[in-house]
Amino acid sequence: MVYSGDCFCGAVKLEVIGAPEAMGYCHCQSCRSWSAAPVNAFTLWKPSAVRITAGAEQVATFQKSELSQPGGSGEMRE
Ligand SMILES: [Zn+2]
Repeated sequence: MVYSGDCFCGAVKLEVIGAPEAMGYCHCQSCRSWSAAPVNAFTLWKPSAVRITAGAEQVATFQKSELSQPGGSGEMRE
C-alpha cells in the first residue's frame, strides 16, 4: 500500500510504502508544542519506505534539546 501526504503549506510532498514500523500517540510537552494539540498521533517509517516526491530542498530538521528527538529504541522522550 502506498500512502501520500504533504506538509501544511503543500511545498513538500511524500509517499510511504508498506506498513509503518510503529504507530502511537504522545502527550509529552514537545509533542503537544509541536502539534499544537493536547495529543500527537504519529506513525514511524523506515527511511527506505519514505520517498519525498516534491520539495526535498524544503525539508529540515530541528532538535529542540538533546532529549527531544526519538531515541534509538523509538521511544519518544521529552
Ligand atoms: Zn512526545
